[in-house]
Amino acid sequence: MTEYQNEISRNMVCVCLTNGVEKWIEFERALSLIKWLQEQDGPQFIEYDGTVFNRSYIIGLCTRDDMEDKRLIKNGFYKCSFNYWHDNKENCGCLTDEEKEEEKRRYDEMCVRQTLKREEEDKERRLKREEAEKERQKNDPCYLFSDVK
Ligand SMILES: [Zn+2]
Repeated sequence: MTEYQNEISRNMVCVCLTNGVEKWIEFERALSLIKWLQEQDGPQFIEYDGTVFNRSYIIGLCTRDDMEDKRLIKNGFYKCSFNYWHDNKENCGCLTDEEKEEEKRRYDEMCVRQTLKREEEDKERRLKREEAEKERQKNDPCYLFSDVK
């Protein structure tokens, strides 16, 4: 959750006006505005929280999520067909389910290969150590005698 989203609690809605003004009000209190907007022959103006709304200037009432989307788009992001946000400068690199499956399979394969390689290297190192130890013992006079009964 972004800071912006934290600032605006879940039960708020935004009245969006044609002049770009955005006024946040509590959802419960917005119901009367919605009712007013639905009235066919209702008054043209309504006073609300110290703001006079002209019904012709109201684009609509948006949820916090709508507004967050709007903010992201304004800041140069776009939502791809997979429902992820990307920077406008970035191509969507999202994978289909099949591609994800393939990616996972390849990754698992790589892990197995790496484990096998590591085991092989460990074995090689162990053999080399044993070899070196034998060589050392061969040249160690103390060792030569310690073995003699
Ligand atoms: Zn994408």
